[in-house]
Amino acid sequence: MQGLMVTKTEFERAFSRHRDALDITSHGKLMRLTAKAGPCPNWQGACAIYEDRPMECRLFPFTISVVATTPRRVHITAHNRVNCPQKDHLLPDETTARGLFEAFAREAFGSDRSVHIVFERGLAGKVRVFLLKLGLRLRLLQN
Ligand code: SF4
Repeated sequence: MQGLMVTKTEFERAFSRHRDALDITSHGKLMRLTAKAGPCPNWQGACAIYEDRPMECRLFPFTISVVATTPRRVHITAHNRVNCPQKDHLLPDETTARGLFEAFAREAFGSDRSVHIVFERGLAGKVRVFLLKLGLRLRLLQN
Protein backbone atom coordinates (compact mmCIF):
# COMPACT_ATOMS: atom_id res chain seq x y z
CA MET A 1 0.00 0.00 0.00
CA GLN A 2 1.66 3.23 -1.16
CA GLY A 3 -0.75 5.76 0.25
CA LEU A 4 -4.47 5.12 0.12
CA MET A 5 -6.80 8.11 0.45
CA VAL A 6 -9.90 7.25 2.46
CA THR A 7 -12.75 9.09 4.13
CA LYS A 8 -13.02 8.93 7.91
CA THR A 9 -16.05 6.65 7.54
CA GLU A 10 -14.05 4.26 5.35
CA PHE A 11 -11.20 4.32 7.83
CA GLU A 12 -13.47 3.40 10.74
CA ARG A 13 -15.17 0.66 8.71
CA ALA A 14 -12.17 -0.93 7.00
CA PHE A 15 -8.93 0.02 8.76
CA SER A 16 -9.44 1.08 12.38
CA ARG A 17 -8.53 -2.38 13.71
CA HIS A 18 -5.24 -2.17 11.78
CA ARG A 19 -4.28 1.22 13.25
CA ASP A 20 -0.92 -0.05 14.60
CA ALA A 21 0.15 -1.34 11.17
CA LEU A 22 -0.41 1.99 9.43
CA ASP A 23 1.16 5.41 9.09
CA ILE A 24 -1.79 7.78 9.04
CA THR A 25 -1.78 11.40 7.93
CA SER A 26 -4.79 13.64 8.07
CA HIS A 27 -5.77 15.78 5.06
CA GLY A 28 -8.78 17.74 6.25
CA LYS A 29 -11.75 15.40 5.97
CA LEU A 30 -9.62 12.71 4.33
CA MET A 31 -6.90 10.40 5.63
CA ARG A 32 -3.90 8.99 3.78
CA LEU A 33 -2.89 5.51 4.91
CA THR A 34 0.43 3.84 4.24
CA ALA A 35 1.33 0.36 5.49
CA LYS A 36 4.36 0.48 7.82
CA ALA A 37 5.57 -2.81 6.31
CA GLY A 38 4.33 -5.13 3.59
CA PRO A 39 1.07 -4.85 1.73
CA CYS A 40 -2.24 -3.45 2.93
CA PRO A 41 -3.22 -5.09 6.26
CA ASN A 42 -6.51 -6.20 4.66
CA TRP A 43 -4.55 -8.33 2.16
CA GLN A 44 -4.67 -11.99 3.23
CA GLY A 45 -3.87 -13.69 -0.07
CA ALA A 46 -6.83 -11.73 -1.40
CA CYS A 47 -8.62 -8.63 -0.18
CA ALA A 48 -10.44 -9.70 2.99
CA ILE A 49 -12.97 -6.88 2.61
CA TYR A 50 -13.29 -6.89 -1.17
CA GLU A 51 -17.06 -6.34 -1.29
CA ASP A 52 -16.72 -3.46 1.14
CA ARG A 53 -13.37 -2.03 0.01
CA PRO A 54 -12.83 1.74 0.09
CA MET A 55 -13.61 3.91 -2.89
CA GLU A 56 -9.99 4.45 -3.96
CA CYS A 57 -9.56 0.66 -4.13
CA ARG A 58 -12.66 0.49 -6.38
CA LEU A 59 -11.12 3.18 -8.57
CA PHE A 60 -7.77 1.38 -8.99
CA PRO A 61 -5.72 1.82 -11.16
CA PHE A 62 -6.90 5.42 -10.99
CA THR A 63 -5.13 7.11 -8.09
CA ILE A 64 -6.23 10.32 -6.44
CA SER A 65 -3.42 12.89 -6.67
CA VAL A 66 -5.01 16.07 -5.32
CA VAL A 67 -8.21 16.84 -3.46
CA ALA A 68 -8.88 20.50 -2.82
CA THR A 69 -11.99 22.32 -1.79
CA THR A 70 -13.44 25.77 -2.13
CA PRO A 71 -16.69 26.80 -0.41
CA ARG A 72 -18.65 25.69 -3.49
CA ARG A 73 -16.54 23.01 -5.17
CA VAL A 74 -14.50 19.89 -4.59
CA HIS A 75 -11.60 19.50 -7.05
CA ILE A 76 -10.13 16.05 -7.57
CA THR A 77 -7.27 15.22 -9.90
CA ALA A 78 -6.42 11.61 -10.66
CA HIS A 79 -3.95 9.63 -12.72
CA ASN A 80 -3.43 6.03 -13.76
CA ARG A 81 0.37 5.99 -13.82
CA VAL A 82 0.60 3.06 -11.38
CA ASN A 83 2.93 0.31 -12.53
CA CYS A 84 0.39 -2.52 -12.62
CA PRO A 85 0.62 -5.05 -15.47
CA GLN A 86 -3.12 -5.67 -15.21
CA LYS A 87 -4.15 -2.06 -15.39
CA ASP A 88 -5.42 -2.07 -18.98
CA HIS A 89 -7.93 -4.75 -17.93
CA LEU A 90 -8.85 -3.01 -14.68
CA LEU A 91 -9.48 0.56 -15.81
CA PRO A 92 -13.08 1.49 -15.13
CA ASP A 93 -14.61 3.41 -18.01
CA GLU A 94 -14.62 7.16 -17.55
CA THR A 95 -18.35 7.41 -16.75
CA THR A 96 -18.02 4.77 -14.01
CA ALA A 97 -14.86 6.42 -12.65
CA ARG A 98 -16.53 9.85 -12.56
CA GLY A 99 -19.50 8.36 -10.68
CA LEU A 100 -17.16 6.79 -8.11
CA PHE A 101 -15.16 10.01 -7.68
CA GLU A 102 -18.37 11.97 -7.16
CA ALA A 103 -19.62 9.47 -4.57
CA PHE A 104 -16.24 9.70 -2.80
CA ALA A 105 -16.40 13.52 -2.74
CA ARG A 106 -19.99 13.55 -1.48
CA GLU A 107 -19.24 11.06 1.30
CA ALA A 108 -16.25 13.16 2.43
CA PHE A 109 -17.56 16.68 1.89
CA GLY A 110 -21.36 16.46 1.72
CA SER A 111 -23.66 17.13 -1.23
CA ASP A 112 -23.79 20.93 -1.18
CA ARG A 113 -20.68 21.39 -3.38
CA SER A 114 -20.21 20.58 -7.04
CA VAL A 115 -17.49 18.08 -7.91
CA HIS A 116 -14.83 18.89 -10.52
CA ILE A 117 -12.69 15.97 -11.72
CA VAL A 118 -9.61 16.19 -13.94
CA PHE A 119 -7.87 13.09 -15.28
CA GLU A 120 -4.12 13.64 -15.74
CA ARG A 121 -3.99 12.22 -19.25
CA GLY A 122 -1.87 13.47 -22.11
CA LEU A 123 -0.51 16.96 -22.46
CA ALA A 124 -3.91 18.66 -22.27
CA GLY A 125 -4.70 16.84 -19.01
CA LYS A 126 -1.32 17.75 -17.53
CA VAL A 127 -1.83 21.42 -18.44
CA ARG A 128 -5.31 21.42 -16.87
CA VAL A 129 -3.96 19.85 -13.66
CA PHE A 130 -1.08 22.36 -13.57
CA LEU A 131 -3.49 25.28 -13.97
CA LEU A 132 -5.82 23.84 -11.34
CA LYS A 133 -2.97 23.45 -8.82
CA LEU A 134 -1.67 26.95 -9.63
CA GLY A 135 -5.14 28.47 -9.24
CA LEU A 136 -5.66 26.69 -5.92
CA ARG A 137 -2.27 27.86 -4.63
CA LEU A 138 -3.03 31.45 -5.62
CA ARG A 139 -6.42 31.21 -3.91
CA LEU A 140 -4.79 29.86 -0.76
CA LEU A 141 -2.25 32.71 -0.80
CA GLN A 142 -5.07 35.24 -1.07
CA ASN A 143 -6.89 33.85 1.99
S1 SF4 B 1 -8.38 -3.67 -2.26
FE1 SF4 B 1 -8.37 -4.51 -0.18
S2 SF4 B 1 -6.28 -5.30 0.13
FE2 SF4 B 1 -6.21 -3.91 -1.64
S3 SF4 B 1 -5.64 -1.91 -0.77
FE3 SF4 B 1 -7.89 -1.99 -0.84
S4 SF4 B 1 -8.54 -2.75 1.19
FE4 SF4 B 1 -6.34 -3.21 0.93
